[in-house]
Amino acid sequence: ADVEKDSDLMHIIHVTAEMAPIAKVGGLGDVVTGLARACLARGHTVDVMLPFYECIEKQHIIDLTLITTYNSFHDGNWILTNAYRGEVSGIPVIFVEPSNQFFKGKYVYGGSYDELEAYIFFSRACLEWMQVTGVQPDIIHVHEWQTSALPLLYWDMYHHLSLKRPRITLTIHNMEHYGECRTVSPTYLKETLCSGWLSSTLIRNRDKYFGVLNGIDPAIWNPATDIFLPVKFNAQKLEGKKFCKNYVQKGLGLPVESAGRAEGKDVVNGTQQKVPLVVCITRLVAQKGLHLIIHAIKHIEELGGQMVVLGKAPDDRVEREFKDLADLYNEGPAIRILLMYSEELSHMLYAAADMVLVPSLYEPCGLAQMFGMRYGAVPIVRRTGGLADTVFDIDDHSNSHMANGFVFEGIDEGSLNWALDRAFSLYKNKPDEWTGLVRKAMERDNSWNNTAGNYIEVYNSVRVRDDSS
Ligand code: ADP
Repeated sequence: ADVEKDSDLMHIIHVTAEMAPIAKVGGLGDVVTGLARACLARGHTVDVMLPFYECIEKQHIIDLTLITTYNSFHDGNWILTNAYRGEVSGIPVIFVEPSNQFFKGKYVYGGSYDELEAYIFFSRACLEWMQVTGVQPDIIHVHEWQTSALPLLYWDMYHHLSLKRPRITLTIHNMEHYGECRTVSPTYLKETLCSGWLSSTLIRNRDKYFGVLNGIDPAIWNPATDIFLPVKFNAQKLEGKKFCKNYVQKGLGLPVESAGRAEGKDVVNGTQQKVPLVVCITRLVAQKGLHLIIHAIKHIEELGGQMVVLGKAPDDRVEREFKDLADLYNEGPAIRILLMYSEELSHMLYAAADMVLVPSLYEPCGLAQMFGMRYGAVPIVRRTGGLADTVFDIDDHSNSHMANGFVFEGIDEGSLNWALDRAFSLYKNKPDEWTGLVRKAMERDNSWNNTAGNYIEVYNSVRVRDDSS
């Protein structure tokens, strides 16, 4: 859909360690791409500055061109640096490539160089590039700890050199990633003010600190047009979703519902026989509620459902634990545990799923529940952070007009069981209500079209206007 243009336009440069799809590890990559595209659509000028990681697949970059060769200072030395320009998902990107070993390796993170050093270099090299080229955006938007040195360097040094115009916005996507240093949902903002080692600083600067919910990119994440899906669908026409489910079941060797049922003849001898498919797509880290994911695997098998976990564990011990579970379950008829990262498969799984599980211990915003909803997977989530701001329980009568999923409170197995049992029961016993819930989840606008305006307001509140500078 066409987006209305803003009347007051500005230039925004994101300085970031991740960008989807070329350098994505988690939600940060999705946020940068989605927010940048939403601001472009509203008429603003937007660039992304990204380290030129060796692992970036160059075929995804359009018109890659070397634009500047310059020196940037780091740790006592001048480092020869190349800046390239290219386009990714319709967004202009500037790739910063130092001539040393920084950003070399097979993955975005975890190379054999010192990451703290590399991102301090990158933060400075971005400012140096603006200084050398004379590019002065209205807003430099930095993200997470990786680029948090930039505001210090700017106010201590570059602002006294030639960079006068830019003002800086910092987003804290996740308080737990502190090599580190704004937040990402109203509930998470409250939680960070109430606890944690930064809370006193944040309380002192409360007037500069806002909670903005992330959105999803409505063009990339659209089941009606998604190139990764074998058949497309939308909230009015759900047949394609059933096809996607059967396609994934076949592909993963999970029993497929009989043809009769797949055609929508769900009631056999008066009882529902359907097997719900639950997906959980996540980084396998403590934040995501690992013990609850493991418990869900067992409980869903007991309930006669199917579950697919798609995840990667940065920690070897967690990797081994899930590898053992994969060995135990993957030959069986109910569970598949896939320990890898696959963007393509993630789209297919959200499309195939009846339910998406997000049992996080805490969650600044969470995108998995939003992608799930958009693709007709009913969310089952813990009430925390952004999950609490986007998913409303069908049995919570104070909020029934918003109801779109299942929410549980505790971090114990019983709390999770309660949510799963209710979801399975509705799915099996009340198919019409279930379909209504699927449609409601799909129709909720979690896109950046709905939320980018909150960021524009923040930008406008700090930027320097020509008539006032
Ligand atoms: P976080 O930013 O903490 O990782 P979010 O829910 O905000 O959590 O974003 C996670 C993003 O990463 C989603 O786009 C999710 O689909 C994706 N993702 C996580 N793990 C995988 C994986 N193994 N394969 C593909 N996509 C993944």
